[in-house]
Amino acid sequence: MKVLVLNSGSSSLKYQLFNMDDESVLAKGLVEKIGLDGSLLTHQPAGMDKVKIEAAIPNHNVAIELVIAALLDEKHGVIKDMKEIDAVGHRTVHGGTTFSESCLINDDVIAEMERLVTLAPLHNPPCILGIKACQEKIPGVPMVGVFDTAFHQTMPPASYLYGLPYEYYEKYQLRRYGFHGTSHRFVSIRCREILGNPEHSKIITCHLGNGSSLAAIKDGKVQDTSMGLTPLEGLLMGTRCGDLDPAILPFLMEKEGLDIAGMNTVMNKKSGLLGISGVSSDMRDVEEAAAAGNERAAIALEVFKKTVLRYIGAYAAEMDGVDAIVFTAGIGENGKAVRKAICENLTYLGIEFDEEANDCRGKEIEISKPGSKVRVFIIPTNEELMIARDTKEIISK
Ligand code: AMP
Repeated sequence: MKVLVLNSGSSSLKYQLFNMDDESVLAKGLVEKIGLDGSLLTHQPAGMDKVKIEAAIPNHNVAIELVIAALLDEKHGVIKDMKEIDAVGHRTVHGGTTFSESCLINDDVIAEMERLVTLAPLHNPPCILGIKACQEKIPGVPMVGVFDTAFHQTMPPASYLYGLPYEYYEKYQLRRYGFHGTSHRFVSIRCREILGNPEHSKIITCHLGNGSSLAAIKDGKVQDTSMGLTPLEGLLMGTRCGDLDPAILPFLMEKEGLDIAGMNTVMNKKSGLLGISGVSSDMRDVEEAAAAGNERAAIALEVFKKTVLRYIGAYAAEMDGVDAIVFTAGIGENGKAVRKAICENLTYLGIEFDEEANDCRGKEIEISKPGSKVRVFIIPTNEELMIARDTKEIISK
């Protein structure tokens, strides 16, 4: 069975074609700058060089057309006929309370996703464009939606309710939803496997990338997570501020003459590592600047570490203990210094950190010493594979 996985952004479209018989990737690629000047498709068939195809790509329909043409191409294609694609799995962002698991996409699902746009005005519209483009360009191929919020739907009300008047929850579904759910699910499933699939487990998964979130997962079910109604809440991120005193909003809006859009730009695009360091949103640049003596960069690193520690402490307390901590995503998988700084502050949990094992990048490995009371792992995430697995499972039913 072959499954095409699509991740549609507002001006980009990432894809991977899986052979689900052995879960291998046949080809992957990225369409960039959809609707902008300089639009481009970079296509990479497995084991071959990347091919760059420059073309005018005004919308997602044309992007899908180009992806299909690349997959079918005589030279760099990997299939002979579109009929070889059995299903498409879409990364879909906000599933609200409607979607607590992945599902077959039909017109009702699309209508519900459209209704949920109010909760995710930046993220849901491009997903819907990607789905509609497939309906038009590859009609009849079953599609599955895999929601970023779904895994977190097991949170109890005490984790998802904000301390606001209850009527706003009822009126507007204002609550914590959480994101990166597909990643937290993938790495927590793998972590439980490594632990021997025990009946009871308490795991904290740390998805640390450009966007970052933590999840507390007890017996395979999310108890709490750091992102909220939107992906802005929680940890300090590349350009997002994470947790704030809410009173800062009216203060800054008044002092700086900001309207709602302006305030949103400050919190989403100008804050985080970038905002504090003034150097970059990229962890590698901030680490380099700090090593060269840039004080603000050094403070940004400290704030990042502290916010992760704050949530690990909170989640260990909430679950009354923790068996394993997992690091994943760009910083979690590659940032040795960040992992070391965090783990060295967790001796109170009984963690014996293995510095030698930590001296690696991007591979699955245990970075706590044998006998450590809490085990710590690096587990590379693979959201695309998780989406492909869900898609296969759902269309096989
Ligand atoms: P992601 O959003 O998961 O792609 O992660 C992107 C983040 O990972 C950026 O902040 C990168 O700086 C960070 N990252 C990638 N490689 C490294 C590395 N070797 N050390 C530290 N951070 C890294």
